[in-house]
Amino acid sequence: MKVSEESLVKHYLSLNRRDFLEDPSAYREVDAPLAIGHGQTVSQPSLVLHMTRLLELAAHHRVLEIGTGCGYQSAMIAPFVAALYTVEIIEALHLGAKNRLLAMGYGNIHFKLGDGKAGWAEEAPFDRIIVTAAPSRIPQALVTQLGPGGRMVIPVGDFVQYLTVIEKDREGRIGVSREMAVRFVPLV
Ligand code: SAH
Repeated sequence: MKVSEESLVKHYLSLNRRDFLEDPSAYREVDAPLAIGHGQTVSQPSLVLHMTRLLELAAHHRVLEIGTGCGYQSAMIAPFVAALYTVEIIEALHLGAKNRLLAMGYGNIHFKLGDGKAGWAEEAPFDRIIVTAAPSRIPQALVTQLGPGGRMVIPVGDFVQYLTVIEKDREGRIGVSREMAVRFVPLV
């Protein structure tokens, strides 16, 4: 069964980005991106909620996330799904998020240091994939690792980026729709 909007919003309101920052003095109570170090940012909370909503999560889902960052988006998703697999390319952010999320008690998150463009082949296929850094083009490995009936939410583009939803039907046919213009850090 699909996760309800009410339970998503309730959990969203229980999370505070302050708890995800290495440097608490970087915290501002604003609906805007915040610096998380290493030239990276955590998105504005309303966009994190919206991307989670677009995933249309269900309790049995195995989810792949590219761009762990500070772990805020991971914490938004993990309680609603069976397992979350998250990949980060910057070691300090990977370790910081891993320690933070484990200390917070999230027990169903698996962490990997590496290039998310390759996905996580050993754990594929995934019911859902979310990418929180923008590639110029949709990485083919991620489309391949999306299971039948799967859904991917990903910002795509260079200067002008669109939040894009990719659906794979039971026969493996791909559908692509654009949601809205966004501005993410690049997927390197
Ligand atoms: N969802 C994160 C947002 C992090 S910003 C959060 O809630 O904090 C995007 C992240 O993607 C950065 O941490 C950046 O290091 C990471 N990233 C960029 N390119 C990547 C790649 N090729 N593979 C994995 N992670 C990548």
